[in-house]
Amino acid sequence: MSSIHPVIILSQQLIRIDSITPEDKDCQILLADLLKAAGFVIEHKKFGEVDNLFAYHGNKPGKNLMFVGHTDVVPTGEENLWKHPPFSATIEDEYLYGRGAADMKSAVAAFTLAMIDYVKENPDHKGKIALMLTSDEEGVALDGIKKMMPYIAQNHDFDYCLVGEPSSAKNLGDTVRIGRRGSLHVNITIHGKQGHVAYPEKANNPVFLSAKIIDDLSQFQWDQGNDDFPPTSFQISSLKTSTNTSNIIPADLHIQANFRYSPESTQESLQQKLEKLLQQHELKYSLNWNLSGLPFHSKSKELKLALQESIKRFTNQEPIFNAAGGTSDGRFVAPFGVEVVELGVINDTIHQVDEKALIDDVIKLQNIYLEIITTLLR
Ligand SMILES: [Zn+2]
Repeated sequence: MSSIHPVIILSQQLIRIDSITPEDKDCQILLADLLKAAGFVIEHKKFGEVDNLFAYHGNKPGKNLMFVGHTDVVPTGEENLWKHPPFSATIEDEYLYGRGAADMKSAVAAFTLAMIDYVKENPDHKGKIALMLTSDEEGVALDGIKKMMPYIAQNHDFDYCLVGEPSSAKNLGDTVRIGRRGSLHVNITIHGKQGHVAYPEKANNPVFLSAKIIDDLSQFQWDQGNDDFPPTSFQISSLKTSTNTSNIIPADLHIQANFRYSPESTQESLQQKLEKLLQQHELKYSLNWNLSGLPFHSKSKELKLALQESIKRFTNQEPIFNAAGGTSDGRFVAPFGVEVVELGVINDTIHQVDEKALIDDVIKLQNIYLEIITTLLR
């Protein structure tokens, strides 16, 4: 290799820091120093033990765009299973290897440098360009973007947010996330009456009482989904009775379940539908709800077009827009009225041994990000 591209050098510097969640280990200081030198306003903000960084440039009227990402990585697993040490950031055969190479230190390097390039070329640009980084995305995600967003929103408004999570499937830019499903947990307890198995007439078995509703739940249509979202799904993950002996009819059956829901449903609508079903089956029940993520769905044509055009320009392909995958930090940004999308490198090795990214993709990603900034802040 003749010379290493700056975005690869920065990615390597970040990968060589073993910032296993929730540690940042000064990745953010490294990035903040670069941004500060380019004229960005920097704020380091710690919540609990978690390091967060907010940086922005520009205060003129216009559109405001923020990049979101994380500097923490998941643990490496068995280090000797890796072909190169996970924090060595080794380059081999067009690939950059290491923990965080795909999720998501290369994207953090790409948008940081894209922002700096943009400001260098357009020092008096319209609107605002910003970055928000946390080090707790891969963990419990309580002291990161969840707390940063309300804090920053006191003084800053954003129109658009681009999360650099690895969204691509087979080729860079083939998939863009324009939403995520909501996640709602529920613990259902079906109450029966405890008794001796030899005297069923004196008891009421909650397992038998629940058989019919479990069958109904397996087929129930909560909504139809929409063009970008599949219909809401309801899954039972555990069934447990209150006793653990063979001669007792249990008093209660505990059902643990989760909704992955489309924006066509709400927490309230799902709660009402479930309660109605339980009542129709004339069951005695108690419910315990726990919302772990709201769904979001970005409908901005301007944002979609900007992504489409820049991806096409650098990769020659038409991206698919969808809302697949698990939750991400985007769920904490969208409730503030921000249009959130996710675009990053190929995700086929994330969280695995020998995590890697194509060097050419990381360089292209920086170009794509720069083009998106240029289009949206125009
Ligand atoms: Zn990630």
